[in-house]
Amino acid sequence: MEQRTELNALGEFALIKHLTQYFIPQHESTIKGIGDDAAIVSSDGVHDQVVTTDLLIEGVHFDLMYTPLKHLGYKAVAVNVSDICAMNARPKYITVSFAVSNRFSLEAMEELYSGMQLACEKYGVDLIGGDTSSAPSGLMISITAIGEVLPEKVVTRDGAKLNDLIVVSGDLGGAYLGLQVLEREKEVYKSTPSIQPDLSGFDYLLQRQLKPEARMDVLQFLSDLKIQPTAMIDVSDGLSSDLMHIAKQSMLGCDIYENKIPLAPDTIRVAADFGLDPLTCALNGGEDYELLFTITQTDYEKIKGSPHFSIIGHMTEESTGCRLITKSNEAFNLQAQGWQAFKE
Ligand code: ADP
Ligand code: MG
Repeated sequence: MEQRTELNALGEFALIKHLTQYFIPQHESTIKGIGDDAAIVSSDGVHDQVVTTDLLIEGVHFDLMYTPLKHLGYKAVAVNVSDICAMNARPKYITVSFAVSNRFSLEAMEELYSGMQLACEKYGVDLIGGDTSSAPSGLMISITAIGEVLPEKVVTRDGAKLNDLIVVSGDLGGAYLGLQVLEREKEVYKSTPSIQPDLSGFDYLLQRQLKPEARMDVLQFLSDLKIQPTAMIDVSDGLSSDLMHIAKQSMLGCDIYENKIPLAPDTIRVAADFGLDPLTCALNGGEDYELLFTITQTDYEKIKGSPHFSIIGHMTEESTGCRLITKSNEAFNLQAQGWQAFKE
């Protein structure tokens, strides 16, 4: 009998590993392939190139009931730029491919592309190609981004050293709560279409969910402070899951402290409305697109007064695992509950 294994038996990362295990790089110029925010290839010249790609599917990654197409276009570009930034690289080019059903009009696609254009201008990237197809239903968008970086400046997930400080930009958990607000209003609308959605007072969280920014500015702050991170990742799946990528790939553990995790006042307020713990939103929520990185202890003085960053913990021995230290000094193991591609 032919064997049949369900995709969700593996989980996203194990699946990718399984399918690509026999692909051995054949070029010396492939410096880093699968396994980081972007691949690194050398171009024989001064810079290395970094390449990343993302696929967005209607009904899985976005819901057009509450996502304006212009915002979707902007976000689709921003999340790719974010992966380029996570390599400490400068984004330069994107390609955009989409498959679309006849449910969408020219005007709708113009809206989508106007958002993409806005992001291209904001991040200084050129749209250089793509592919276009019809689809039996819905909308799918795939974007590839290419950036460049000096080889000595590139930052991967595996470079953290014992006792390095763990730093994150901005604040966390907001995008997840923005999504909860939108989902709540959607349910209200579905049961009583005559009621107008009430989204007032949620501006910050909605912006975090609908119009996230890639933190290119953070790379500039770091360069101004003369800090070269030892490892870096963008927070797309939640602090726990993304920090565990750095720890695992650097073969270390980590301790982060509950009272150091940056939470916006709106995040704390609205989490309470939903009966959620804002810390859990930060740890497991995802889509914040902040940069999470490690620096050597000697860089502490340079970064400690900066309003852009929070020092949330440090790297430990691998044997102690990845832990959250609570306000009452209890230690809990972090869990990678981030976004799962094949959840049931
Ligand atoms: P990110 O969350 O930063 O976008 P992912 O979790 O999507 O990264 O991917 C992790 C790594 O696996 C990346 O190096 C990515 O290029 C690679 N990858 C993902 N899907 C595939 C695939 N179908 N085939 C080959 N490599 C893949
Ligand atoms: Mg990433």
